[in-house]
Amino acid sequence: MQPIYLDHAATTPLDPQVLEAMLPWLREHHGNPSSVHAFGREARVAVELARRQVSTLIGATPSEVVFCGSGTEANNLAILGVFAGIEVPCSLTTSAVEHSSVREPCALLERHGVRVGRIGVDLRGLVDPSSVATAVGEDTALVSVMLANNEVGTIQPVREISQALAPARHRGLLVHSDAVQALGKLAVRVDDLGVDLLSLSAHKLHGPKGVGALYVRTAVADRLAPRVVGGGQERGRRAGTENVAAIVGFGAACELAGERSDRARDHVASLQGRLLDRVRHAIPDMRLHGPKDSLDRLPGIISVGFPGVDGDSLLARLDLDGIAVSRGSACTSGTTGPSWVLSAMGLTEAQSRETIRISPAHTTTEDEIDLAVQALFRNVRAMRAGADHGR
Ligand code: PLP
Repeated sequence: MQPIYLDHAATTPLDPQVLEAMLPWLREHHGNPSSVHAFGREARVAVELARRQVSTLIGATPSEVVFCGSGTEANNLAILGVFAGIEVPCSLTTSAVEHSSVREPCALLERHGVRVGRIGVDLRGLVDPSSVATAVGEDTALVSVMLANNEVGTIQPVREISQALAPARHRGLLVHSDAVQALGKLAVRVDDLGVDLLSLSAHKLHGPKGVGALYVRTAVADRLAPRVVGGGQERGRRAGTENVAAIVGFGAACELAGERSDRARDHVASLQGRLLDRVRHAIPDMRLHGPKDSLDRLPGIISVGFPGVDGDSLLARLDLDGIAVSRGSACTSGTTGPSWVLSAMGLTEAQSRETIRISPAHTTTEDEIDLAVQALFRNVRAMRAGADHGR
């Protein structure tokens, strides 16, 4: 049996058309976009085309897109960049379910005296916009709430949060959102969301790894200090010679995502429904984490738990069967302790340990879903029988 990859929230395979777009920039062209000669100019043209492709997907203008090395770096640039020019006392408001690349820069600022408010979530993993509005004070410089959660797929009401913060924004509060998981799976438009800063990453939408971007609204561009300095690239916001091939790939991936958006979303949503119906039928005590309404959940992230079945052992058994799923965030796998996302949603440590994340994409087939369901059923049954046997 061909291995079945159901871990697209961790990373996606490169789209063949993205590879085609990148190859000339690895083989034939080698110019530095900052060089003024013809080699440099053609590389500059390629980078600027990619900037336009990325900006088009999010409804921004090209000059508002800052290319950088990853979604992690985009989050660091947004959070540390805003606070670089601000003296304490000041504060920042975020949610309790952010990715570590938001969580850790916030903790770093906290160690330097910035007050950090972390808004809790309900059982579905949802942040209440009015709680965010209540939490911000006169000295709050930034609110950062992700658009879609990487472990459970909860889509946050970022637009409503931005609207609820309107009075504070008049005095300069900025709104950032980590849209790394959402891009390519949801319609992501900066004006609809009302954000000032938005983090993106190419490898979650069938682009290359190691390239990301931060959207910076023109009106607030002077509020952001660079975090990587020493070359002046990206209008001084992110130094370092551009990874032209990766940036070209990011642009191509965004264009393809824009072209396939609704069709791909419907396909993934239908695979998700098929998987959940079948697993629920085979294993009726399955727990689905996150919103029950599929419209509040990102297509492509399914977080489930099977009572009494250890998630790590189940994952290892599925791996032996050629099926790749994960426990949750790839960035925290290998760490001990329960997921802070699941804990914030009220799951117990035991329930957290029982959780696995299944993550299909538009390239996943119904046959793959059916084979994965069979393997899940077989392994959960065997593990439960083993546990009974051992008692
Ligand atoms: N934010 C979220 C929600 C993510 O899921 C990830 C990656 O898993 C990142 C940020 C980091 O992106 P990158 O892998 O490009 O550093």
